[in-house]
Amino acid sequence: MQHTAELVWNRCLDFIKDNIQLQAYKTWFEPIQPVKLEEKALSIQVPSKFFYEWLEEHYVSLLKTVLTKELGEGARLVYVIRMENTYGNTKPFTENIPSNSRPNVRPQDVDAPLSSFTSELKNPFVIPGIRNLQVESQLNPNYNFENFLEGDSNRLARSAALAVANKPGGTSFNPLLIFGGVGLGKTHLAHSTGVEIKEKYPDKTVLYISAEKFTQQYIESVRKNTRNDFIHFYQILDVLIIDDVQFLSGKSGTQDVFFHIFNHLHQNGKQVILTSDKAPVDMQDIEQRLLSRFKWGLSAELQVPDVETRISILKSKLYRDGVSLDEEIIHYVAKHIQTNVRELEGAIISLIAQSSFNRVEVTLDLAKEVVNKFVKNTKREVSIDYIQKVVSDYFQMDVETLQSKTRKRHIVQARQLAMFFAKKLTKASLASIGNQIGKRDHATVLHACKTVDNLSFTDKQFRKYVDDLQQKLTL
Ligand code: ADP
Ligand code: MG
Repeated sequence: MQHTAELVWNRCLDFIKDNIQLQAYKTWFEPIQPVKLEEKALSIQVPSKFFYEWLEEHYVSLLKTVLTKELGEGARLVYVIRMENTYGNTKPFTENIPSNSRPNVRPQDVDAPLSSFTSELKNPFVIPGIRNLQVESQLNPNYNFENFLEGDSNRLARSAALAVANKPGGTSFNPLLIFGGVGLGKTHLAHSTGVEIKEKYPDKTVLYISAEKFTQQYIESVRKNTRNDFIHFYQILDVLIIDDVQFLSGKSGTQDVFFHIFNHLHQNGKQVILTSDKAPVDMQDIEQRLLSRFKWGLSAELQVPDVETRISILKSKLYRDGVSLDEEIIHYVAKHIQTNVRELEGAIISLIAQSSFNRVEVTLDLAKEVVNKFVKNTKREVSIDYIQKVVSDYFQMDVETLQSKTRKRHIVQARQLAMFFAKKLTKASLASIGNQIGKRDHATVLHACKTVDNLSFTDKQFRKYVDDLQQKLTL
């Protein structure tokens, strides 16, 4: 038995290796051990719950494909989790989680597979009589209010969502539009609202759908000549949650059909919840009549959480996963990962993963290493102000001096370096760079960039300035 499990798994690995990046393969697949094979169920042992969740979230489609390829239709994957607590206070525990017992896989990340192991969206077009309409709500119960931590950055959005959940369609927050940058919790909050509604009002039909899927379904319905059924289906929902509506931009057909659905729901006191990566005023290529509808209700922004909230989010996540880490480490991670919550979670997962592969304790040093990699990998764009500050600090002058009209050689050089890095590290135009660095014109900036290029070839000392600054600016 053992033998066949291993054989099958090895063949799976060959396939997987060819289909994902090597680093990801090493991180997430090498540590897995095949345990047993019973009929078409392959059990694999993963080092921790994080692992399991990560695999389910990111590789479920790949796993399904390869397993079906090896074992045929009906293939199943069973995870055996060996939870290893580096603190040695708990015994390893084993948990069997049949992959397809999970009601729902977490919503897809950008790089996540397109379809899930468990449930394709139930074809919405078959309507067995409106009375006993059964809609699979596509909600993820893991995203709820309880584990959506409150902070200044999300208070308005969170309370609005709660209000909506208490009285769907019955508040002035209709539609409720939650907007904000990536990884700040829009999808989580949208699900929470749906989950809460379902809990309070089990009879209400709720549907969560990404704007992308909505669009695909719509196109499909046009192709199959079932556009009316499509519209009809959406019009009889009690609560419609559409994630990432910015995806509709430029897609006028889908916008049009959504407009009709929206109007119908709104007129009938049904709740609409939308998320977007931008505020309505900043949305492009969305029809005016839709934008104005979006503004009927409430637009609530999710902002980047402050460090206290980041700490609480981390703590709550660790607590739920049954892992304890030193305060010092938690603070370090929260302090240095500032972009968004998803990265914060990613850093901590990778930290724990590292420690469990290498069987070492999570120490502050390890945390520093992991965080460092994380911060480097996120290409954040530095601002021109920041570049000027770093360059003037480096040459021990202040920013006014750097910008001044003087022709003193070392100041001119500093200014040219600032311009060079502004061109290199930001998307700003030459004109805008010149304008921000002492009100020069674009020709001056162009000249500066050429000069820096030349000098760094011919002048060793100058080359060192460039290298030092490069390092400081991109660290
Ligand atoms: P978005 O849809 O805005 O890109 P997500 O909703 O996918 O972001 O959130 C990214 C991750 O961060 C998810 O795992 C989510 O659970 C987590 N998260 C975001 N905000 C919070 C919060 N306030 N409390 C707890 N977890 C959060
Ligand atoms: Mg999202």
